[in-house]
Amino acid sequence: MINVERLWSRIEELSGIGKTADNGVTRFSYTREEYEANELVKRYMQQAGLEVYYDAVGNLIGSKSGNKDLPTILLGSHIDTVPNGGKFDGSLGVLTAIEVMESLQDQQILLDHPVKVIAFKDEEGSRFGFGMIGSLAVAGNLNSKALERKDKDGFSIRDALIEYGYDPENIQVAQMTDVKMYLELHIEQGKVLENNEAPVGIVTGIAGPLWLKFKLTGEAEHAGATPMGQRKDPLVAASLIIAEIEKLANQYEDAVATVGTLSLTPGGVNVIPGSVEFTIDLRDISEQVRGRLEKEIRDFATTIVSERKIDLTIEELQRVAPVICSQQIQETIQQSISELDYPVVSLPSGAGHDAMQFKDAFPVGMIFVRSKDGISHNPKEFTAKEDVKAGAEVMLRTLIHLDKS
Ligand SMILES: [Zn+2]
Repeated sequence: MINVERLWSRIEELSGIGKTADNGVTRFSYTREEYEANELVKRYMQQAGLEVYYDAVGNLIGSKSGNKDLPTILLGSHIDTVPNGGKFDGSLGVLTAIEVMESLQDQQILLDHPVKVIAFKDEEGSRFGFGMIGSLAVAGNLNSKALERKDKDGFSIRDALIEYGYDPENIQVAQMTDVKMYLELHIEQGKVLENNEAPVGIVTGIAGPLWLKFKLTGEAEHAGATPMGQRKDPLVAASLIIAEIEKLANQYEDAVATVGTLSLTPGGVNVIPGSVEFTIDLRDISEQVRGRLEKEIRDFATTIVSERKIDLTIEELQRVAPVICSQQIQETIQQSISELDYPVVSLPSGAGHDAMQFKDAFPVGMIFVRSKDGISHNPKEFTAKEDVKAGAEVMLRTLIHLDKS
């Protein structure tokens, strides 16, 4: 059984570090606040009977030994935040993992597998515009080029490592091998669980973002002197494409497509635009589905611009592979949810998580906990105490079942 009062009071206490004027939290990586938060979490880990250390990039790790011949089960999330974020995003996953380990200790239950609880360094990317630093390092994929990324004051990740006593030339030792699986609990940051009246959910996969930039070039001309039939208006072509993107994405169950930026030049009330740029963020947990949707969008755009004699270039800004969660872990989470008599709901994650980084390294699974009104990255972010308890109970059972597998 979980001690929800202990868990809840830790959520409150941790949210006091980096607290903002409107009750949000700002904790960027390699800062005083984040260091203080790590030291507090370190004490919780010690209370839970874990042996605690910082790895080569500053991930905080609480380790519980087990049978030396068995691979390690990793549990974790992050404690950094976006500017003026909430107190549950990331922190809930770290604190729940610690609570699960402490509950096992309280009940004198010993697991066979060694377990490590990790508070990953900088998941959000708020400081350097480059996130998942800690999980990339654990996966063995943090390269030295990434260390040159700078914050707004020109301070690089490399500088930050040195400031906190880490050796930038030694980051590869953070890589973990001999891992059985990674399990993360996180707030949903959406409304699917709320709409299904479920406190917890089974994550089927993590949708990877594909970012494309479309540039349409026509002819900037006088709005009064150019007859309708003689125009090459890239904005009209762009709007037809944007409207079609919504229709195309709607054909798929989980796919989402968003045009989040749009700019036009020269931009005058009496000038037909000369060029238009917009970006698309495309996501699905299946790379195949995402690829099909991408092709349909590209094909439609090509047809529209050729009809209208507009030039089109498409630049790929970012292509992150989606991750399918382990079938075995999904089934085990489902079993635990059923045993606790909660409704069984499976859903994809639209947002990225540290778990993504382990795609090619070992199996991953995620448990989602209901978010009030789906709000996150905001001081209003909230998860009810009974939902926190439900999530922790599901995680505890899931870990016990997985340990036997
Ligand atoms: Zn998060």
